[in-house]
Amino acid sequence: MFDLNALLRPHIRTLKPYSSARDEFSGSASIFLDANENPFGSVTGADINRYPDPLQRELKELIAPIRRVVPEQIFLGNGSDEAIDLLYRAFCNPGQDEVIILPPTYGMYRVSADLNDVRIKEVPLIPEDFRIDVDGVLEAITEQTKMIFICSPNNPTGNAMRRQSIEGILKHFNGLVVLDEAYSDFSPQRSFVDRLNEFPNLIVLQTFSKAWGMAAIRLGMAFASQEIVQVLNRIKPPYNISGLTQQEALEGVKRLNRKETIVKEILKERAWLGTKLKEMELVEKVYNSDANFILIKVPEARKVYEYLVGEGIIVRDRSQVALVLDCLRITVGTSEENKKLLKALKAFEPSAISI
Ligand SMILES: *Cc1c(COP(=O)(O)O)cnc(C)c1O
Repeated sequence: MFDLNALLRPHIRTLKPYSSARDEFSGSASIFLDANENPFGSVTGADINRYPDPLQRELKELIAPIRRVVPEQIFLGNGSDEAIDLLYRAFCNPGQDEVIILPPTYGMYRVSADLNDVRIKEVPLIPEDFRIDVDGVLEAITEQTKMIFICSPNNPTGNAMRRQSIEGILKHFNGLVVLDEAYSDFSPQRSFVDRLNEFPNLIVLQTFSKAWGMAAIRLGMAFASQEIVQVLNRIKPPYNISGLTQQEALEGVKRLNRKETIVKEILKERAWLGTKLKEMELVEKVYNSDANFILIKVPEARKVYEYLVGEGIIVRDRSQVALVLDCLRITVGTSEENKKLLKALKAFEPSAISI
């Protein structure tokens, strides 16, 4: 049985959170002399002299109907990375507990584990098509396993994981399953946010950094049960989402149609770029992508990477990463950028470099 309270670190169960001025009084009044703010306004003249809403209620009200959840099922973090870190801090006892990750995958799961002194168990994806080794995952679970991170579509391989695999893990694991859907807008596969009421151990991560085109505001979303969201709210820094970020995100969320138009454009470019890359002699393999990037395999990938840097084109070098050796991860760019990339790759002559 899944028991959230038992899963929590003991001191978090009894932790008394910081109570901000905005927490203690959130009604309407005309004079606010409770938070030591500057009543004369900001030095730049921008409307930023007051502390922002610690729970970002207005923003959550707008996100909730888009994702068909209630606002209380949403946690907002300073990037998805903050949600990941808070999950470790809430549920994993340093030097004692462990989490399972499925490499090759997003680097932050490990960095955050290392930072929090939490042991990592790796269950690599199955090499031929990067699907989850579900039996391997279930066998790796011990009493100490608190979380399993699944990235779907996965970074850097680009594939979405099979729904049955994700469901199998959700059903057979009594800890938390953190499903990172940073790239789900680019995938035909439906989001698992719809399944939150079915799986009390599910946490779905999404972000404003990719499809929404708002990486600079640093805003990540975690969708989960109200109980899990309450835990994250209790341990987060009081004003973790700045007022400027909240304002900009409000403007963004109102332009859902624009996001969908851009996603369609990126999908069109992805298909075109994928076809062209497959036609190239240099490229050994183009992996199918459900994300806004394409993973390719080329001989001597490191050299190709360095050559592209010389041409002013930066791709992600994954050539030393297990299971994706000699691979480069290429973000789908604008039509013009993609054409320049292809032109540069065509001009690459391996022999000239190896001399
Ligand atoms: C880009 C990315 C994110 C987004 O991280 P932010 O901190 O929200 O910018 C999350 N997960 C994966 C797998 C990513 O590739």
